[in-house]
Amino acid sequence: MSPIAHFIGSWLAASVTTDNPRDRKLVTLAGVLPDADGLGVVVDVVGSMISGKENTFHYYQQYHHLLLHGWPGAIVVSILLVCFAERRRPVLLGCLLTFHLHLLCDLVGSRGPTAGDLWPICYSEPLFRHPIWFWKGQWKLDGWQNQLVFIVIFGAALWLATKKGFSFAEIFSRRLDTIFVGTLQKWRASIFAGKGSR
Ligand SMILES: [Zn+2]
Repeated sequence: MSPIAHFIGSWLAASVTTDNPRDRKLVTLAGVLPDADGLGVVVDVVGSMISGKENTFHYYQQYHHLLLHGWPGAIVVSILLVCFAERRRPVLLGCLLTFHLHLLCDLVGSRGPTAGDLWPICYSEPLFRHPIWFWKGQWKLDGWQNQLVFIVIFGAALWLATKKGFSFAEIFSRRLDTIFVGTLQKWRASIFAGKGSR
């Protein structure tokens, strides 16, 4: 699943498992951070530009889905994030939940362009090679199923924002969030006012 879908889905889970902005941010981060193991792609691109050699995506292939897509990564990331929490127990549980939600979403929907291009989840990496899980029916990363899931969770996140008075924009800036939610609430009010006057 795409990083933005992980972000929105994790924020949704965070907004129902925590009760303050700081903890929501931490639980949301836990659902996005697994993909930090794909940042080797930056080293690959920069290295290839400097050397002039063809990019083989060595670091990306070597570490993506292996460093932070298993239980060792879940424990390290969750414990690190809990250090900054206001309420530690819900944040620990929330982080473990969103981290594993990320793994589940990748297992279901992170296939490459060809039918055999499956991304497995190596749940004990980088400590142990096994178990290795994969699903033969894995959806293509940019397939319609992933797009549909994104539309549903994005819609749910906007709806929740108008109800609760805060949105996923709070992860970046409280000010931006206030403006964004205010606009959403105005739209919602005008839609319902329009229906009521008919
Ligand atoms: Zn991932």
